[in-house]
Amino acid sequence: AKVLDYFETRCQGSKRLSEQAKQVIPGGVQHNLAFNYPFPLAIREAHDAHMTDVDGNRYIDFLQAGGPTLLGSNYPAVLVQVQVLLNECGPITGLLHEYEVKLAELVCQVMPGVDMLRMMGSGTEAVMGAIRLARAYTGKKRVIKIGGGYHGWSDQMVYGMRLPNTGRMEAIGIPRGATATTQESLPNDLEAIRRKLMWNRLRGGTAAVIVEPFGPESGTRPVTRDFNAGLRKLCDEFDALLIFDEVVTGFRAGMGGAQGYFGIKPDLTILGKCLTGGYPMAGGIGGRRDIMMMLVGGIGTTTKRAFVGGTLTANPLSCAAGYFALLEMQRTQAAVKAGRAGDRLRQGLEQIIERLGLPYVAYNMGSIVHLQTSGVMLLDTSNLLKLIRVKNEAKERKHMMEEMGAAYTAHGIITLAGSRIYTSLADTDEVIDDALNRFED
Ligand code: PLP
Repeated sequence: AKVLDYFETRCQGSKRLSEQAKQVIPGGVQHNLAFNYPFPLAIREAHDAHMTDVDGNRYIDFLQAGGPTLLGSNYPAVLVQVQVLLNECGPITGLLHEYEVKLAELVCQVMPGVDMLRMMGSGTEAVMGAIRLARAYTGKKRVIKIGGGYHGWSDQMVYGMRLPNTGRMEAIGIPRGATATTQESLPNDLEAIRRKLMWNRLRGGTAAVIVEPFGPESGTRPVTRDFNAGLRKLCDEFDALLIFDEVVTGFRAGMGGAQGYFGIKPDLTILGKCLTGGYPMAGGIGGRRDIMMMLVGGIGTTTKRAFVGGTLTANPLSCAAGYFALLEMQRTQAAVKAGRAGDRLRQGLEQIIERLGLPYVAYNMGSIVHLQTSGVMLLDTSNLLKLIRVKNEAKERKHMMEEMGAAYTAHGIITLAGSRIYTSLADTDEVIDDALNRFED
């Protein structure tokens, strides 16, 4: 009641705008996973580690727009460069721009598995393109994804997806055929994946295994280095491509992404979010030169090629923003510093959980911090009864997470759906300590 009272008395401007939004925008939100309980806040200003809503309330920003703003919000050195670029040629010309090349060169230099880069409109598009490319290159159709992983909302990837907090995603509107070649396998179970690869081998083979290298739903259910290394070996053995979906981990786990962190080279890498430093059209496919060359366009350049494109892809605005954001991430060691902030926050949260005896668990991989009810870690398909119980709990947990998320907001902290925290370069010790006091309240 106290939390709802906060929203009723302190967030009238947000409430008015969200009611207006509901008249012309389905649900009043633009993403089906957007957090909107009891209603979404409307933000007026965002700088560094803080956001201010239209009613003048100030928040610590642990949402980070879902991950892209590793440098903190509205980072001045990038903003200035974007303004210069816009004065020169506006956001788009449709022809080549120097920053396209500079961005690609920089990504190829820092990411071990990336010899060439093609920009895309979003992470979802990059996943679609990478899977098409894998099928074109291998001549095979089937794709194995890791259960609970999120790879965007394309038909072939979203169907049947299990998110740790939400249960199964809606399959409405997705024809059965669209997912006939998508298979799911549980995290950290290499034997199950080997069995699928063997089964597929008798039926035309596997084009690719796609994984979020810190674990499904970007580390909510962590996977080990050994699991990733095992996938690398299995893919080699069965002539399938290994695709790392580094939409979240790219540049956030270090300039070399999770592949640099683990020292494992995927064949294809999917990038998004941090790739353009929070500016629009964040998506990219990177990978081995011989595979990437199948994207060569034009007439008569190659006999085998996979088609990808997009009117606004690789526009100068996105590329300039990405180039200068990545330079700044490199110069400031943003991933390392945001990672230290993540460690400090997770340690503090663990102490609070322990002190108050809460049924929670906090864990992090650098700047990606998870705050979950302990039930989420119990998922175990070998015990059906337990699974049913956990599934029922999952439904309750969803609402509980919503309520917790709203409670954090009422205490001046914005999280991702009450269960994920992204830290940034802007998160000084003072910001983290302030946040810990608010979490404890
Ligand atoms: N892959 C992963 C691991 C993601 O976390 C996301 C988005 O959150 C996507 C793909 C889809 O990216 P986008 O939202 O840019 O389409």
